[in-house]
Amino acid sequence: MVGLTGGIGSGKSAVAARLGQLGAVVIDSDRIAREVVAPGSEGLAEIVATFGPGVLAPDGSLDRPALGAVVFGDEAARRRLEAITHPRVRARSAELAAAAPPDAIVVNDVPLLVEVGLAPTYHLVVVVQTAPEIRLARLARDRGMSRAEAERRIAAQADDARRRAAADVVLSNDATLDDLHVAVDALWHGRLVPYEENLRHRQP
Ligand code: ATP
Repeated sequence: MVGLTGGIGSGKSAVAARLGQLGAVVIDSDRIAREVVAPGSEGLAEIVATFGPGVLAPDGSLDRPALGAVVFGDEAARRRLEAITHPRVRARSAELAAAAPPDAIVVNDVPLLVEVGLAPTYHLVVVVQTAPEIRLARLARDRGMSRAEAERRIAAQADDARRRAAADVVLSNDATLDDLHVAVDALWHGRLVPYEENLRHRQP
């Protein structure tokens, strides 16, 4: 079980896609997080029961901006929301991992792995690290995200130093996608040695 994380726009999906091509079973937590609150799901019903019908869009799907406005700056509300979503995401991820072949390398792409304290639940934690300026430029170019919005999201996450402290392997993604692929391939083929300092941390 490999935990893959990194800041917004760092290149987690790019790393996950490459690992998938190499033969890993990839579990995408963002996708699961959307599934567990999809229309008709128990998760969505519980969110509506907790926060009211104002968090529903006219088509019956979750109105994310409306829910975001309800929990923004309200720690207790955010915790109530997470108590609905996190266990469901974890259960679904565990189900998918259990369905993988016994010798599979399962990669779980988890944006907030460090923030939520999940590092100890993985055999290997891989952190994708990219300079914030480069992330801002890629998010603007590929997703049309404004600089202010990207900066706000980066500020709401752990910083790279904190992520590095939880990492066994750090993949830098400041250069080209080809360079990233070379580093991922090396990791896959066992030529990228985990940081010794971090391994020492993690030994019982
Ligand atoms: P999020 O946290 O939003 O899920 P992410 O960490 O999964 O983001 P990606 O979606 O993989 O990041 O990358 C962000 C954007 O940058 C994407 O459009 C991707 O194609 C692009 N990108 C990733 N790595 C590189 C690279 N080395 N060179 C150029 N573009 C890149």
